[in-house]
Amino acid sequence: MTDLSTEVVVVGGGSAGAVVAGRLVEADVDVVLVEAGPDYGPFVDGRWPAEILDATALATTHDWGYHSGPIPGREPWSRERARILGGCSAHNGAIAAVGHASDYDGWGLPGWSTDELRPFVAAALERMRVRTYADAEATPFHARCLDAARSAGWRIASDLCDLDANEGFGLETVNVVDGVRWNTAFAYLDPVRHSPGLRIVAETVVDRVERGASGWSVSLADRSTSAGTDDVRSITADAVILAAGVYGTPSILQRSGVGDPDRLRSVGVEPVVESPLVGANLHDHPMVNAGRELTPGLRTEIDEAVRRGFVPEEQTLGKARSSRATDGIFDLHLFPVCASAQTTLTGGRALVEVACMTPASRGQVHIASPDPSQAPHIDHGYLTDPSAHDLTVLRDGLAMAEELLGQPALAAALVPERPRDVDDEAIHRDVQHYFHPVGTTPMGTDPATSVCDHRGRVNGLDGLVVADVSLMPQIPRANTNIPAVMIGERIADLLT
Ligand SMILES: Cc1cc2nc3c(=O)[nH]c(=O)nc-3n(C[C@H](O)[C@H](O)[C@H](O)COP(=O)(O)OP(=O)(O)OC[C@H]3O[C@@H](n4cnc5c(N)ncnc54)[C@H](O)[C@@H]3O)c2cc1C
Repeated sequence: MTDLSTEVVVVGGGSAGAVVAGRLVEADVDVVLVEAGPDYGPFVDGRWPAEILDATALATTHDWGYHSGPIPGREPWSRERARILGGCSAHNGAIAAVGHASDYDGWGLPGWSTDELRPFVAAALERMRVRTYADAEATPFHARCLDAARSAGWRIASDLCDLDANEGFGLETVNVVDGVRWNTAFAYLDPVRHSPGLRIVAETVVDRVERGASGWSVSLADRSTSAGTDDVRSITADAVILAAGVYGTPSILQRSGVGDPDRLRSVGVEPVVESPLVGANLHDHPMVNAGRELTPGLRTEIDEAVRRGFVPEEQTLGKARSSRATDGIFDLHLFPVCASAQTTLTGGRALVEVACMTPASRGQVHIASPDPSQAPHIDHGYLTDPSAHDLTVLRDGLAMAEELLGQPALAAALVPERPRDVDDEAIHRDVQHYFHPVGTTPMGTDPATSVCDHRGRVNGLDGLVVADVSLMPQIPRANTNIPAVMIGERIADLLT
């Protein structure tokens, strides 16, 4: 067994962690990257599973398996998070979005204004090989969605991934290269895999971190119960960067004694640093949908297109304003989805998903035990804001979705149905997530209302930094993968 000593340990090789590790190695920093999931090596070696590479649909094989357990009156929640090098960028929808300039300016953090972030966003888009689908690539279903949006009066947009753009409907911007979901391991780790400054320790779960007299020690979970292929026993470092994601990062902090002292004691953890907001402020874009059965004619068109080539389920997106968008900026995503086969994702139906992009509701994540093999308690608190902001935005969005489905281009290809109920009870019953949870160790300028400072440093602990979506004080109006990559770029820059 090996005991490693390094300058920096990065915990979690996901969307942001792979970026930080790659950028630090490029800057000649010695890095050990510890990832709970497997590493299938460089992309060019061809060992990555087909399902992980295939960008036509979400991948499901490498997941932590978190879920809510039974909930009276509705289906249980699943809480998808990838467990693989590349993290969620390796199994997600590969939709690239950045939100609106006002999102980052709204954080009010030194070094994180939109203008200061523009170079990091540009770097993220370039490395992730982001591009917008061309008209000629529109699938039979999504071509109809574009026509429907046009007839419903939407601006047809080619700037959906632009910090300065507002409402519009168009073909999506994606990090898909020749049908491959381009993940951060390909984009940021492959270029430095040959470097002696990088050691990737895969299939290894970090339990906790501890500050000693001469630096940090990183405790690994009991290897006898994991499938670890590496021979590493312990790691010490000058600094630790936590990039274990929105559930993993607060869980490691809590197991390390950083959190609300009473709650920590209640699960058998001795408090080290009082930081009550660790795990609080969990939020996501809540989502509901409207949908219809496909006519046999459209099904045939799609089947023929699948035989000819690449047919993604998701390809178009609308950004719209609800009655709650008092700042004049879009607060809704409407995105049609149509499975290319009878998958469980859409139940064989065409859906228009509707997401509230400015959620006011908050939840929390908290460890259930000091044992890292036990899942944390995760409560998203969807639609719990007392002002019913999120509910109202979704209600307005559902009406827009029904209007879109009713346009001739779509109505002709879908089986007529009574438009879905948009009453509040139905929205509460059906609300789903948009896979975008963030905010569980938020940055801030006041330690009383934050967990990390504006450089991602955990308050009260020198040499411990967070670098993932947990840092977001408020979610941007965007799918969160490119923002996660941007955070990785920004924190790496602050560290070098
Ligand atoms: C199904 C799905 C679809 C999505 N679709 C899109 C999309 O189309 N576009 C978009 O922009 N966003 C999408 N998202 C959201 C986006 O992918 C995430 O917000 C983003 O990847 C989060 O990045 P992260 O670095 O914070 O965390 P992650 O990418 O989750 O990385 C965390 C990493 O840390 C590892 N880890 C966790 N705990 C430990 C531990 N204790 N020890 C060692 N390693 C650990 C994990 O295995 C993981 O690799 C989707 C997400 C999901 C789940």
